[in-house]
Amino acid sequence: MVKPALKARTLADKLLPTNSLQDSLSKVILLTSIVALILSFGSFLIYDQISFKKDLAHQVNAIALDTASNSQPAFSFDHDPGDNQTFTSLQHYPQIRYGAVLNSAGEILSQYHNNWTKEINPRVLTQHILMTDDFIEVSQPIVKNGVTIGQIYLLSDVERLRTRQLELAIVVFTIFVAALTSTIVITRKKIKTIINPISTLVLLFKKIGNQHDFSLRAQPTPVLELNTLVDGFNGMLEQLSDAEQALKKSQQRLSLALLGGGEGLWDLDLLQQQLYLDKHSCKILGINKDETLLSNANWHKMIHPDDRKRFRFYSQYYITQQIEQYNIEFRVCCESNWLWLKLTGKVTQFDQNNVALRMTGTLQDITKQHLAEEQIKLYASVFDNTSDAIVILDDQLRVIAANQAFSNITQFEANEMHHKQLSVIDKIDNFSQIETALSSQGSWSGELTDQRKDGSAYMLELALNAVKHTEYENYNYVVAVFSDITERKRNENELYFMANFDPLTKLPNRAMFHDYFAKSLASAKRHNKIIALLFIDLDKFKQVNDTLGHDAGDELLIQAAHRMKLHLRDTDLLARLSGDEFTIILENITNLRQAETVARKILQDFQQPFTLKKQCTHIGTSIGISTFPNDANSTEELLKQSDTAMYYAKSNGRNNFHFFDQAMNVQAERRNLIEHELHYALERQQISVYYQPKVDTNNFKILGFEALARWSHPVLGNVPPSEFIPVAEDAGLIKELGQFIFTTACLQLKEWHSRGFNDLQIAINVSAREFQLSDYPLEIAKIIKEIAIDPRYIELELTESIVMENPEKTTLMLDVIKNLGVSLSIDDFGTGYSSLCYLRKLPVDVLKVDQSFVRELDQDNSAAIARAIVSMAHSLKLKVVAEGVETAEQLSFFQQQQCEYIQGFYFSEAVTGEQSYSLLTQQWQQKFVESVEIELSK
Ligand code: C2E
Ligand code: CA
Ligand code: CA
Repeated sequence: MVKPALKARTLADKLLPTNSLQDSLSKVILLTSIVALILSFGSFLIYDQISFKKDLAHQVNAIALDTASNSQPAFSFDHDPGDNQTFTSLQHYPQIRYGAVLNSAGEILSQYHNNWTKEINPRVLTQHILMTDDFIEVSQPIVKNGVTIGQIYLLSDVERLRTRQLELAIVVFTIFVAALTSTIVITRKKIKTIINPISTLVLLFKKIGNQHDFSLRAQPTPVLELNTLVDGFNGMLEQLSDAEQALKKSQQRLSLALLGGGEGLWDLDLLQQQLYLDKHSCKILGINKDETLLSNANWHKMIHPDDRKRFRFYSQYYITQQIEQYNIEFRVCCESNWLWLKLTGKVTQFDQNNVALRMTGTLQDITKQHLAEEQIKLYASVFDNTSDAIVILDDQLRVIAANQAFSNITQFEANEMHHKQLSVIDKIDNFSQIETALSSQGSWSGELTDQRKDGSAYMLELALNAVKHTEYENYNYVVAVFSDITERKRNENELYFMANFDPLTKLPNRAMFHDYFAKSLASAKRHNKIIALLFIDLDKFKQVNDTLGHDAGDELLIQAAHRMKLHLRDTDLLARLSGDEFTIILENITNLRQAETVARKILQDFQQPFTLKKQCTHIGTSIGISTFPNDANSTEELLKQSDTAMYYAKSNGRNNFHFFDQAMNVQAERRNLIEHELHYALERQQISVYYQPKVDTNNFKILGFEALARWSHPVLGNVPPSEFIPVAEDAGLIKELGQFIFTTACLQLKEWHSRGFNDLQIAINVSAREFQLSDYPLEIAKIIKEIAIDPRYIELELTESIVMENPEKTTLMLDVIKNLGVSLSIDDFGTGYSSLCYLRKLPVDVLKVDQSFVRELDQDNSAAIARAIVSMAHSLKLKVVAEGVETAEQLSFFQQQQCEYIQGFYFSEAVTGEQSYSLLTQQWQQKFVESVEIELSK
């Protein structure tokens, strides 16, 4: 689009004269004046010449007439007509230069010369006067009495004419120059009075063109006609100014309207393919100009690549289909961001063939609206697709809208619920509290139960949020969001149960016990109450597990829990800590006897056998009791104490209960001391190995020794192995200790062999933990190899409980050890629950009857068991060792049972390696045989 200002400028340029009008006019006027003057002066000269000549001719003619009449007497008196008398009068006429008197025959009678030298031919002129350029000739007859007697001939030159004309020329020229000069001066002046206002006008026009200021006005001039022009011009300016004002106003109005709507103006020249953008548009598009012209190509480049095709297509479609309004939204680049623009407009100019030439419209930045729309869409999709039920309620908490999740959860359709209250809200008891919470805090939440349409119950977590139009109003809407938490609650409950309860017995577990105990204790402290903590351990639970299987073990735990519960009040807590360990918290007791009663009842109950896998099994329990505030005032301490008391009960004959007392702590402290000291025992060479002989029952020949560890401590004295071996096991020292004992015993064996006692055997005890170490076979194989001893002479003693703990695994391990070439014996046999079936499969060679049976042989039961063990062992082709034989009777008993070996103080205690030699001598043995014979014969 071409600007009007540009048009005005080119017009003004055209109007400007290339040559000065003043010069041209001056030249024209000057030339005209010169020509006029020359023409008038020339005509005047010609006229003057003619009239001068005519006058002269008349004068000469009059003179000639006068002269002719004067010369007539001379003819009559025969005077010479040419005498001076005739021509004397001529002297008064200087213009007459020649005169002659001719006779009738034409002969010159006399002549008159006035400075006349030229030859002349005086003649009679038929017309009397003859004018030539240079002369005037006149002839007049001289008449006498009516008869022509002669002729007067006069000649005058025009010399005076010339002089006169020269003088005239000089005068005229002077006048001409003066006239010309004044003409020029006047002309110029006059021209200026015309030209100046015109050039002022032109300059003004130029100025208006340049400045585009229609408020300027032309000044009045003294020239009337020009004033009309000035008036016309000013009038025109007035109109232009008005039109401009009006345009400006309307532009301003449009601009304000556009600005108010945040819109800019665009104008597309479809022919030129150029897009005009006004300052608002420029501002919107981040173009730092007041207005701009963009080529269509550049404009298209600004459009987002994803929108470009659509934009082109729509624009084309709009132009070709001539839709009412052009309206498109798309993205353009603005300072490296994408703006959403809305372009509206229409075709504003068509050619004669109705082809669109120009489109005009407005553009608007709708990025914010777009974002808002997208957000609304997002919210809508969240509303529709969220798994939580969302319900919009009015200020009366009636349903306005509900999403799909609402229907999924409640089975009610949204429209069914329209204008109704949600059943769940309806059911809330303290409804007014909710309303207060909504009004004051703007929200309320809680867990509730409700019924679905089909009547099934479900749990929901409901959150109500008030929506207020203003801060000061009560809520206008309430958004209710809820989710079905039935499943979650179930899971939570399950998780809670898993975290706090023992899945097998359904009793509280250790975690819950601790939690509960801490709370109970805190409450007891506050209210000065007594608490008793019972620590219960099932005796021989492991054996049940191992012999009857884990199912039976589980069943035992369930039954035991059930039995214990029977003796508790609701306020008491029974928990399963681990394995076969249970605790009972007795709250609100008034004296310790109540705790004792509970313990006794449980013990009594446990006297009844349990039926496990259809077998009657006797299971005892050991119970330790600690009390608050007597024993301690922390949960940890109380638990430790009850545990200690339980161990005390167990080690004092099982199936028993004990209250904690500080003496038990003394035991525990000694244990700690032993553990501490044991760490240094080996390096300080406090540990040694003693050897107790094992003799043939029949001939009392020493067949071998059992290696027994001894610890001689400088302060503690002799610490028995039954005390330090378990501590070594717990403290992780057993491997090192075991290796030391094994090596020492083997070296001793080697020495015996080297001293000639070639057939002696060594029996070495293996502790449970030591045996459980996976590399145990490797370790002993290494030692055997190092010492280079025949493994046939080595026998490993394992207690029945080790073997039976995990018979299958043990069998494998025993096979490996057996393959090393060593023999195996089962120690302390009869105390455990050896399954005969397993015993048969085990690769053992020897059974050692437990000392307890030997000691109590006088009791029928024990003798019978001992007998049964020996015969059973024999039936399994195992040899039997009776250990702990202290009396001749005991010896005799086992001799009768054909027990192969005996071992005991009756024969010898364990002695040092050195001392063993005296036992091995023949004399000693002989003496022993004799003494035995005497004893038995008594
Ligand atoms: P055990 O293997 O049954 O050893 C036999 C225990 O009975 C030994 O006690 C022994 O001195 C004692 N004894 C032997 N004959 C008689 C007797 O006629 N009357 C009485 N009252 N006792 C007799 P000790 O040495 O105190 O060992 C106790 C337990 O310590 C052993 O029982 C064994 O289980 C364990 N033990 C001892 N030494 C070692 C060892 O080097 N390694 C391992 N792992 N355990 C050992
Ligand atoms: Ca033993
Ligand atoms: Ca034993």
